[in-house]
Amino acid sequence: MKNSRDSKQKKLELLEAVSRARSLPVTVQRRVVLTALLDRDDHPTVDQLFADVKARMPGVSRTTIYRALETLVELGLARRTNHFEATARFDGNTDHHHHLVCRRCNRVDDIDHPGLNKFTPPSLGGIAFEILDYSIYLEGLCAACRRGAAKSAAQKPAGRSPRPPR
Ligand SMILES: [Zn+2]
Ligand SMILES: [Zn+2]
Repeated sequence: MKNSRDSKQKKLELLEAVSRARSLPVTVQRRVVLTALLDRDDHPTVDQLFADVKARMPGVSRTTIYRALETLVELGLARRTNHFEATARFDGNTDHHHHLVCRRCNRVDDIDHPGLNKFTPPSLGGIAFEILDYSIYLEGLCAACRRGAAKSAAQKPAGRSPRPPR
């Protein structure tokens, strides 16, 4: 699900409101990083966002992007997404939602499905743990990777397709 223009505008207004409440300046970097994050719906890594932002702000450093992301997470405007890969991924969607994870290209998509939305975590009984939120991650192959797998299977049936370089 792509963030609509409206919700993007609301998120940027929220950034200003939350920053004002915490007496933090709304830096250009934070605005640009949040916009870049909301422009993507594939839960990007710091490097992917760095590439996007560099196109708009040529002098920007990777550290600046990372710090801006950390602040956005801290302010509740973005989230870290859990991923089997060690690389941190970020999510501009801070509502309760579930995910599809591609095992081959590592992209993460949001999924809105009534079957998943019906799930509620069981009561944990004697376990001293307070659940604040949860997300279901379904692992598999995305449409692009399935097309690629079908194509390479047709070309060389016995060949194993290597993981694409990152
Ligand atoms: Zn994929
Ligand atoms: Zn998400």
